Amino acid sequence: MVTLDAITFDLDDTLWDNQGVMLKTEEGHYRWLLESLAAWRAARQEAPLPLTYDEGVADYLQRRQQWASQVPERRGDFTWLRLRALEAQLETSGLPRSAALLWAAAAMNEFHRLRVQVTPHPEAAGLLSALAERYRLAAITNGNIHLKRQPLAAHFPVAIAAGELLAPKPDPKPFLTALERLNTVPQRAMHVGDSWNEDVLPAQQLGMHAAWVAECGDQTLPERVHRVAHVKELPELIEWLEKRA
Ligand SMILES: [Mg+2]
Repeated sequence: MVTLDAITFDLDDTLWDNQGVMLKTEEGHYRWLLESLAAWRAARQEAPLPLTYDEGVADYLQRRQQWASQVPERRGDFTWLRLRALEAQLETSGLPRSAALLWAAAAMNEFHRLRVQVTPHPEAAGLLSALAERYRLAAITNGNIHLKRQPLAAHFPVAIAAGELLAPKPDPKPFLTALERLNTVPQRAMHVGDSWNEDVLPAQQLGMHAAWVAECGDQTLPERVHRVAHVKELPELIEWLEKRA
């Protein structure tokens, strides 16, 4: 029989679909930066910077990849990588360093404003409220969504940004940190996530139960791993596990 006292959740593509928001955020914060910066320079009678959207975005990506390989321990800290990349790009384009730092920070503020505009699955809030009556809940994400501003934040007394711990999943550290803060052990906890490599396998290897959120997948599942097509099927799975002899 399985006795659970805590459940940890991945966020992106587990409790909401992430792709649309990421695309809008990616494009939106960079366009905002170029437009705001152009207006600011025009007001000061300064020439526009030699940055266009397409070239700028490509250069921004390349700079993030460079920083990630130069400072590998930060490879999962996407906010840090973006800030360094923007600062360097703006400085290279002719902004004084102090202005480059300010504008990079402002662009990331816009990034986070757009990034939290995710739409959770309609069942998610009710599901988490019901589960919270019996289990302690945590969020564990590799993403750089603002954990206190995301729409389901109130449901998670414990929320771990694995990239900021410098240990993105599949590193066991974010799981162990969550379990410690939830005051439990792997055998009494379940992790719920969509990624086989970043959610399911590391949780299973620690001895946790795992609910793999995947619409299809017919491989043989290792012990303690169960598949649900959608997170709304979770209560049924948990009930079955707890009743099973
Ligand atoms: Mg995910």
